[in-house]
Amino acid sequence: MAWFKRESVPLDTSGEKRVKTEGLWAKCDQCRQIIWKKDLDQSLNVCPKCDRHFRIDARTRLSYLFDDGKYEVEDNNLVSTDPLNFTDLKPYAERLKRSREDTGLNDAVINARGKLSGQPVIVCAMEYSFIGGSMGAVVGEMIARAVEKATAEKLPLIVISASGGARMMEGAISLMQLAKISAALARMDEAKVPYISVMTDPTTGGTTASFAMLGDLNIAEPGALIGFAGPRVIEQTIRQKLPEGFQRSEFLLEHGMLDAVVRRADMKNYIARALEFMQTPA
Ligand SMILES: [Zn+2]
Repeated sequence: MAWFKRESVPLDTSGEKRVKTEGLWAKCDQCRQIIWKKDLDQSLNVCPKCDRHFRIDARTRLSYLFDDGKYEVEDNNLVSTDPLNFTDLKPYAERLKRSREDTGLNDAVINARGKLSGQPVIVCAMEYSFIGGSMGAVVGEMIARAVEKATAEKLPLIVISASGGARMMEGAISLMQLAKISAALARMDEAKVPYISVMTDPTTGGTTASFAMLGDLNIAEPGALIGFAGPRVIEQTIRQKLPEGFQRSEFLLEHGMLDAVVRRADMKNYIARALEFMQTPA
């Protein structure tokens, strides 16, 4: 007889985990306030009472940043080949198919180009509801392509992370993406093209360990979980209780890991001003 058994609960990758929804109303999971959904649209999906920044999908993020919400999508024809023929609770191929149907995307990122306060930019927005925003070969390649295009065309790059890290189902191939993107970013840095990294809830694992922390400017939304290993794993490893608010944006800012914590409502203006500053000739 086994000493313990593992319940086979399927991995929950639904993006809207933070907002409990029933029809016209949503409930804030932080202050328990009931919010009319229309008000939530108005407030950019931020709780009007406690300022909790809810998770939002990649398309909504892009619509908040680009002028008139207009942008062109690029590199959206890449698909994962399931190189390891991987199966955990269910086959990876099935997970991919399901996520594609649910999100209408081929993988966990959207590459977009358009204008931000009149300034042409390239933006990569990660989609958390696509297998936890995890980075496999496709996400890695798409971000690397965006970096290369930005470098070649001297266009500022903004990457909005919402990711659990490298994609387990593609093993070492996922890990190779970290090096590929980091190398491309180093070339971009040499070419003096600005790169702003925006971290949202959550940004963890291989994403933090590569491009998310390599921005010329590293900023985050309030209250976002940002780290490499999760707090539970660290606690179990070092056998110590972690301080209050550990791995949240504000804690990271206080300890010098971030340049700023920026509210969603201020994000577009903040980025526009930063880009202006970064591109002012000396
Ligand atoms: Zn609230």
